[in-house]
Amino acid sequence: MTAPLTTAEVIAVGSELLGSTRLDTNSLFISDQLRRLGIELKGKSVVGDDRVRLGDVLGDALRRADLVVLTGGLGPTDDDLTREAVGDVLGLELSEDPAITAGIRQRFERRGLPMPEVNRRQAMVHRGARSLPNPHGSAPGILIATGGKLVVLLPGPPRELQPMLAALCAEGGAIAEHAGRERLYTVLLFTTGLSESRVEELVQPIYSTWRDGTEPISTTILATPGQVEIHLTMRSSDDAHAKERLERSRAQLAAALGDCVFATDGRSLPQVVGDVLRERHLTFAAAESCTGGLLLQRMTDVAGSSDYVTGGVIAYSNELKIQLLGVDSSLLDTHGAVSEAAAAAMVDGIRERTGADVCVSITGVAGPGGGSEAKPVGTVVIGVRVPGHPLSVQTHRFPGGREMVRLQSSQMALDRVRRMLG
Ligand code: AMP
Ligand code: MG
Repeated sequence: MTAPLTTAEVIAVGSELLGSTRLDTNSLFISDQLRRLGIELKGKSVVGDDRVRLGDVLGDALRRADLVVLTGGLGPTDDDLTREAVGDVLGLELSEDPAITAGIRQRFERRGLPMPEVNRRQAMVHRGARSLPNPHGSAPGILIATGGKLVVLLPGPPRELQPMLAALCAEGGAIAEHAGRERLYTVLLFTTGLSESRVEELVQPIYSTWRDGTEPISTTILATPGQVEIHLTMRSSDDAHAKERLERSRAQLAAALGDCVFATDGRSLPQVVGDVLRERHLTFAAAESCTGGLLLQRMTDVAGSSDYVTGGVIAYSNELKIQLLGVDSSLLDTHGAVSEAAAAAMVDGIRERTGADVCVSITGVAGPGGGSEAKPVGTVVIGVRVPGHPLSVQTHRFPGGREMVRLQSSQMALDRVRRMLG
């Protein structure tokens, strides 16, 4: 092999992976390991235990990528066909390696069992290929160099595959040896409060100028409820230069997006808000209705959040809003539980009861039922109290189903706190 490996494809083999109960997770691990070596996963396929179809997919992958990693189908049973399919495509015969058979036999003998004859299939290796030891199972892996490319066959069980692939990617390992000097660098930029298309509108004129040239930067925009992420990636053999260039690019995008950017270091919104609270020695409490504790769950998912979270109340019914938060029952009769008056009373109630510096209340219609013409599903009122600011109560209208509405409510509440703490 001469040219370094820069692109890869994964083929996950197993009919069970095409059903509705099992997912290919090996490719996630493989992608991460290869990425560290500057080898980019360009595509992946899931194929059932079908020799002809697997051959087709492997043939295509080999035309496109420098490295193809196949996982699964190395077992001893008739439905494990990866070795045979690879032999078909590469025109390589299989023959039994007696040393491998002896190793498998020993594995069984250590457990006081005779080796079933079918396990001899796992000792079949392609002509000129290298067998890869599997410390956690009976099926060894196989490494084949062919036409300037590498084909790697690994067993399906993650606990067997992971150490084997890690060894190939570690210093001196066969994949690491064939990787180039270039590495992949990525920086992140997280925003909230803007739609995916609005983010695109603001940043596309900038990032589109980075696509060409000798060192292109590729841009990925990812939307989740209440959050739009931008990922910038470039390939380089110069560590300092790559970091400096990406940092400059990220700063350009951040300037265009303004205060909608909440993190440029991968932190989540609860982490960002939590860090500000800790820095300012402020405590936090929440009174939640329609989010059922989601806001406090997200806040307390962050390790160390006991530094600033005091707690809160989930007051779903009107009775508990009255009992635990001191909301006036006549206020609820007049304005309803989803109202700015109720949100204001809830936030003041939680503040009086906890003494926390920063308090939030959330009350809304998460749906699918409970909406009305005046307060349709997705109507959410959020109250925020931050020292040095007047009480802030705002009504929002969130799109989507129940889960989306709840998530966006918690995200909006956090973002309002972030902005007020500014
Ligand atoms: P095999 O090597 O085909 O005998 O696979 C054995 C077991 O490994 C399967 O039953 C799965 O539980 C697991 N497995 C196979 N392929 C994958 C994959 N791509 N991701 C996660 N687990 C897998
Ligand atoms: Mg299988």
